[in-house]
Amino acid sequence: MTKAQKTEYATRLTCEEARNALVKENNPITSFETVPIRSSLNRILHEDMLCPVNVPNHTNSAMDGYAIQFSEVINHEKTSYELKGSAFAGRPFGHPIAGNTAVKIMTGAAMPEGADTVIILEDAEEKNNQITFKGIAKKGQNVRLAGEDLKAGQVFLEAGRRLTASDIGLIASVGISEVRVRRKVKVAFFSTGDELKSLGESLNVGEIYDSNRYTLYGLLKDFGAEIQDLGVVKDNPSELKKTLLSASKNNDAVITSGGVSVGEADHIKSVLASIGKINFWKILMKPGRPLAFGKIGESSFFGLPGNPVSVMITFMQFVQPALSKIAGETRRSPIEITARSTYRIRKSPGRTEFQRGILSFDENGNAIVSPLTAQGSGILSSMTEANALIHLPEECGEIEVGAMVRVQPFSLRV
Ligand code: AMP
Ligand code: MG
Repeated sequence: MTKAQKTEYATRLTCEEARNALVKENNPITSFETVPIRSSLNRILHEDMLCPVNVPNHTNSAMDGYAIQFSEVINHEKTSYELKGSAFAGRPFGHPIAGNTAVKIMTGAAMPEGADTVIILEDAEEKNNQITFKGIAKKGQNVRLAGEDLKAGQVFLEAGRRLTASDIGLIASVGISEVRVRRKVKVAFFSTGDELKSLGESLNVGEIYDSNRYTLYGLLKDFGAEIQDLGVVKDNPSELKKTLLSASKNNDAVITSGGVSVGEADHIKSVLASIGKINFWKILMKPGRPLAFGKIGESSFFGLPGNPVSVMITFMQFVQPALSKIAGETRRSPIEITARSTYRIRKSPGRTEFQRGILSFDENGNAIVSPLTAQGSGILSSMTEANALIHLPEECGEIEVGAMVRVQPFSLRV
């Protein structure tokens, strides 16, 4: 690094500083709504959920077999048991058993009173209503105890959790049909740039289709925001001001793309300065260095760079954790693992890089990652091809073939 570069870098924020500042500057929504269980999927749980019942409700059989009362003093293999009847899931036997008696029992059927052990069908021989067992029964084997999944009174889901498929199944398993969730985060977004055309329009020389609005639509939908797409706004101060002001009125956050790089910053800077409190950050990061953040009224403003890859990466690294905090979500950090790089990666120390890569596994099941050759911040197809970001921290220099690198998978399938 030259001395001039060093001075320039010193005025910038590291990725971590920027992320921490964004998380700190945003506060969780406190209002909530009660929704039917299905609508709670991917929503943020408002409060701890207490289990009203034991799951399972009754001690029941885990296998098809015979229920007996285990005894320390009897040799079960030399004993003959009298078959008293059957128990099916949802149709209990209904009477107590003891001593040399057994009940044929199906998986999920409630254990008869007095029975504590199940011997599987395969280990039993039934003849003339008498049963003998091979194999030594252990007390309590093949039995699911009442409350072994969830106990009545316990917290079974914690506030701030993003509800998954198993969560809503669990909620149903305790008999609850409505869930209190935080209200959705409301986000408005638009693209800026005189060169941008919307779909359906024809392109003149130098013009491009606005893709950022669709990428942002996808990212925000996946996040679970309530979104308002405000289209394309020209690089025109009065139009920008009008759109920003109206967007900030009804939304928790406003996101724009484009217009924050050095050449254009003064222009949007003056607009933003006149309506809110906005910081222009130069982040020690590649791609996507410029980022504007601040407040317009009560609304948080995120000004992302225009390059399509930068939009995605700055969203994932900075906007997503901030929106998660606003949403009331407790787990906010991206998953990071380590993988062996299959190529040499050129990099000089000084800033964090997020390179696009393909994460996979070698024949021994160890994680490996292959950086893509096209790493330009305008090459959106690299995000489609990749399934992970290779996170190269500020201080790290060139990566040799076979060295371990940090990887953030952004698509769960490999
Ligand atoms: P800017 O940050 O406005 O200087 O834009 C940087 C680069 O991203 C330029 O090549 C723009 O044409 C491109 N760009 C800006 N906005 C969009 C958009 N909404 N969709 C696709 N490319 C864009
Ligand atoms: Mg622009």
